[in-house]
Amino acid sequence: MKNECSICHQSDSSLMRDIGWPNRVCRICNAKAVTETGETPNWDSMDDCGDNPVFIDGIKCWRRYRFGGYVTMRDSYDCVSEEAFYDKLATEGLIGSPSGKRALQELKMVDTMKESYRNLKEKYQARKAYPPDFRGTDYKKGGLVIVGQDGGITTKSIVRKVLMLDDEDSSLYKYVSQHILSPLNLTVDQIIALNLVNLSFNTSLARIAKWESIPFDDLVNGLAELSYDDFKEKLSKYKPKYVITLGQPVFQFLQRKAGVTFHPIREVFATGIEIVLDNDPLICLPCVHMRTYNVNRKVYKDQDNRLRKWALNQRL
Ligand SMILES: [Zn+2]
Repeated sequence: MKNECSICHQSDSSLMRDIGWPNRVCRICNAKAVTETGETPNWDSMDDCGDNPVFIDGIKCWRRYRFGGYVTMRDSYDCVSEEAFYDKLATEGLIGSPSGKRALQELKMVDTMKESYRNLKEKYQARKAYPPDFRGTDYKKGGLVIVGQDGGITTKSIVRKVLMLDDEDSSLYKYVSQHILSPLNLTVDQIIALNLVNLSFNTSLARIAKWESIPFDDLVNGLAELSYDDFKEKLSKYKPKYVITLGQPVFQFLQRKAGVTFHPIREVFATGIEIVLDNDPLICLPCVHMRTYNVNRKVYKDQDNRLRKWALNQRL
């Protein structure tokens, strides 16, 4: 029984939501949880952490705190740590379903990233919420938002706004206005640009990934995960109908968050894909970033044309 509580064996529809997790515990049992010392478990939804393990009628359980909530799972093995518990589940084949595997990968990634993030922030002198979003003077709700990856390097060049859209002489400005906005019959005054990762480091993410031996996509994903609340808040403020993602990692991340079938950017660049992020429908229009565009003109050379065609269909 998929919806059965692993402690009281009653079925609980709320368990459907966390189907990727084994040995889950229902709401009623959850309410009885205490810490090792018998107190009500503490939980910090902002930081996704809380007491572990917890005990329900004396049965050891581990709580997975994530995305502002938690999943409680019964531990039949008496593991010494949350991580040992997941390892045990994995070797027992209990995290074997595709969704379970994804969940395990995701939690490992988020865990690794959270820890790394705190270290990386100090090590590479991260500056938070920098650079500030670019806000076109004529932007209207229901319009278009361009989502870049990260704030890049803060010490070498002067970046005053996301994607340097306040600087007509910058190559980014030229790329975005000529090869993305112009085919859509838009100007920078009509759009907003923000970054998925709301941090700037003193070196590039590519270098950090290399030096820290973290796969680049994992690094971006992890940092994006930690910036996600902030990102969603901005979306609900700007209320765009269209979102242009710049680069594969940003596109990948939003697809994962929306839970849609994964499309490689090569196949779907400059064509609209409908996604829903936390009940907000968006039309996502993946584009490549400047460097990729310049280096792989053969592959992406019809981006301008595709955008033009798409805009015609949308009557933008
Ligand atoms: Zn129960």
